[in-house]
Amino acid sequence: MAKLYFRYGAMNSGKSTALLQAAYNYEERGQHVLLAKPEIDTKDADRISSRLGVTREVDFLIGPDADVRTLFAEHRDRARAAASEALLPEADDPADVACLLIDEAQFLTREQVDDLLRIVVLDGVPVLAYGIRTDFQTGAFPGSRRLMELAHSLEELKTICRCGRKALFNARLVGGRFVFDGDQVAIDELTAARVTYESMCAECYLTESGGRLG
Ligand SMILES: [Zn+2]
Repeated sequence: MAKLYFRYGAMNSGKSTALLQAAYNYEERGQHVLLAKPEIDTKDADRISSRLGVTREVDFLIGPDADVRTLFAEHRDRARAAASEALLPEADDPADVACLLIDEAQFLTREQVDDLLRIVVLDGVPVLAYGIRTDFQTGAFPGSRRLMELAHSLEELKTICRCGRKALFNARLVGGRFVFDGDQVAIDELTAARVTYESMCAECYLTESGGRLG
């Protein structure tokens, strides 16, 4: 039975690398996959980039109001048609999409994550979603919260804090200084250009924030 997987972690925990590796593993076995991500991410808008330097274009972007199940069905049909054209006429099993992979899944809406579960259960296609669990104020992103609620399988991708402990949170820096107030996604362009993040354990986060948790 197909399952909805959520693989989550702090920033820089290698989520995009893991996603591209999963896609490669399917394709190595001759199976087809579809890659998608929410439209909100402005840098590398239509690409999935791993820190190891591997990048790949997505098959489709998910707009903020998009119906993910319909979008997926369109791209599944297209991929199926392309695959069956490439097959020999006597082949009776045109290659279907074996899996849908989603990067930056934290930016999906609650309704879009509901759609992912429908794709898994009603359409029978496994979905692997990768995303960041919490924002810089330690609150869950909407997509991640819903994935935590619905996923059949949760897997944490780990990265370490500067002190060597496992990182839990993502502290925001603007121009190299820690900030604990602001929008969940740095929207203002001037600010966004100066924003960086550091993955931190709870101890280091609380030290930098003076005891605040958002
Ligand atoms: Zn630490």
